[in-house]
Amino acid sequence: MVRAEMRTLALATVVAVVTVASACGDDGSPTTPDAPVAPITPTPNPARGISETKLSFDVTTFAATAQITFEPSTAPGATLEVGDLTLDTVQQGGAALAFAVKPGTNVIDLALDASDAPVTIDIAFHYKNHTGFAGAAAAGYTFLWPYYCGNLFPCHSQPRDGLAMTLAVTGVPAGKIAVFPQTIAEAPSYQLAWSIDAYTELPLGTTAAGTQVSVWYRPTELALAQTGTANLVAAFQWLETTIGPYRFGNKVGTVSVKWGPGAYGGMEHHPLWHVSAGSLDSQETNVHEAAHGWFGDGIRIECWEDFVLSEGTVTYLAGRALDVVAPTVGAAVWQSYASELAGIPAPTRVWPQSCGTVDIFEGRSVHQRAVHARGVLLSRGGAEGRRRQGRPGAPHVLHGARRQDGAHGGHARHDQDRHGLRRHRVHSDLADQHHHAHARRLSVARTRCPHAGGHGQARRVITRGCGWRCSCSGRLVPWPS
Ligand SMILES: [Zn+2]
Repeated sequence: MVRAEMRTLALATVVAVVTVASACGDDGSPTTPDAPVAPITPTPNPARGISETKLSFDVTTFAATAQITFEPSTAPGATLEVGDLTLDTVQQGGAALAFAVKPGTNVIDLALDASDAPVTIDIAFHYKNHTGFAGAAAAGYTFLWPYYCGNLFPCHSQPRDGLAMTLAVTGVPAGKIAVFPQTIAEAPSYQLAWSIDAYTELPLGTTAAGTQVSVWYRPTELALAQTGTANLVAAFQWLETTIGPYRFGNKVGTVSVKWGPGAYGGMEHHPLWHVSAGSLDSQETNVHEAAHGWFGDGIRIECWEDFVLSEGTVTYLAGRALDVVAPTVGAAVWQSYASELAGIPAPTRVWPQSCGTVDIFEGRSVHQRAVHARGVLLSRGGAEGRRRQGRPGAPHVLHGARRQDGAHGGHARHDQDRHGLRRHRVHSDLADQHHHAHARRLSVARTRCPHAGGHGQARRVITRGCGWRCSCSGRLVPWPS
């Protein structure tokens, strides 16, 4: 029903393009050979990226606005996912902008002209609460992963798509506070979130880099919050010093969210990541979500099939960080990983060969715990490989990321050769599980490495099939394969 309403609005929308009359002619003034200006019609252009979205939500009336800035595009049109939003107005420069619903989808095409400059539009809309982790929830939190951003605001949901976001939340009930970041540096759409509850902030400390770490807990959760975050500042500092500077501001932390009974884990809503109340006392979960600030968020995956590249990496990093800052805790985490791995059937594969065709929930091939457990081996294998080669310290993934984030960017390729950062086999069962692993490698593309359809905007994508033959201008660090 909701979608039907939207389609009705779309059909009723007149192509509202202002045709500027040209004053050519007969007054003796210089003339311009203007061609007839044809009205622009809504045109699909999913490759036209979004560089920034400014969002405002009233959580009482469910009214919202989005100011969306598209990247320059040599082709006309633009495409947005709009889920089950009710679109009230779509405007460009204060005038109605024509759009059309793509039949059978929750996608709209816009009548935007090609432009060599960024183009901004304004959309007023209403959103709805959802159950089942697919948008805003009546319990006060939002959950957009993996591709439900369209149920909260007009968006692009691909994990490789990154954009800057600003967020305002009003209409918060008395006695509660909304915890959310007002700004998010370039990130995937699902990274944006808020949670509204009777929160208390517990400051945990500040890292050497000046990042203030807190935990927001609900009544009765203080002890759980203290247990789960006992080493969070130290672990975060280890991530900052081992991988590189944090990208999403100088105030971060865990927000306990009321996902409901039986819900565990967390979600990488940096800089204020969510942890289910059921996992609030888990140090591994808190550090895992923190590590996503570097992998999954700070550096994005290309497609959902590559989920193992972010989940495996941060699962490894959580164990590694806790190993360093709290060895007893770390040892227990590694033991839990080993136990979990032992329970996974040997033929389980976690890295589909395709990119962009497998639904993340399809056949449990991508979204499963095995992704985490086997992904740990992928990352740990890199570390072990380095040790075998007499190069102690961070594994490839860390080494590469630090170089990406650090101050040595200009020398990256030189360093890559000098340190022999070449791909090598991982001597773990992971290689056996992925018969095609030899053909794959993870590359960390630096900023300004455009992906297909990009236009030179800063892109941070974990990619594959690109390798160091990629034409991207950035540093490319091979993943052990
Ligand atoms: Zn994760």
